[in-house]
Amino acid sequence: MKYTLLLLTVGTIIFFVTTSVCATTIERIEKTDEEWKAILTPDQYVITRKKGTEPPFSGAYWNLHEKGTYVCVCCGAVIFSSKEKFDSGSGWPSFWATVKDAPIATKLDSSFGMERTEVLCARCDAHLGHLFSDGPPPTGMRYCINSAALNFIAEEE
Ligand SMILES: [Zn+2]
Repeated sequence: MKYTLLLLTVGTIIFFVTTSVCATTIERIEKTDEEWKAILTPDQYVITRKKGTEPPFSGAYWNLHEKGTYVCVCCGAVIFSSKEKFDSGSGWPSFWATVKDAPIATKLDSSFGMERTEVLCARCDAHLGHLFSDGPPPTGMRYCINSAALNFIAEEE
């Protein structure tokens, strides 16, 4: 019980620190489970709202090389750009950085016996994927993201 309370407190502090550092002007999008279900496909719903993971090499974007931006499938926030996308070989769309000022929150995820960093949309709390520190230069970071958590908007020529 004490442990749960401690975790909750730490989680709350991390949440507030992350959201206030990211931007003071994040416009929060909040919907009920039923509302999310109504606007998302079953895959999108399970991945973003229930922290699911799509099978590797199955999503729409892991092998996409077009120029454009990737937005949160739930709220439309611009998170990634094709400029920072790279082929990680993992079967998930991978990026070495977000776009500048992207509304991103990170959280420690200890599920499945692993210590991972979960990546969330700070605007609507959508689960997007995980962040690893084995990415390419210049950041050395690897945002490993589910295609189903993103919408791709092609750049107009
Ligand atoms: Zn979002």
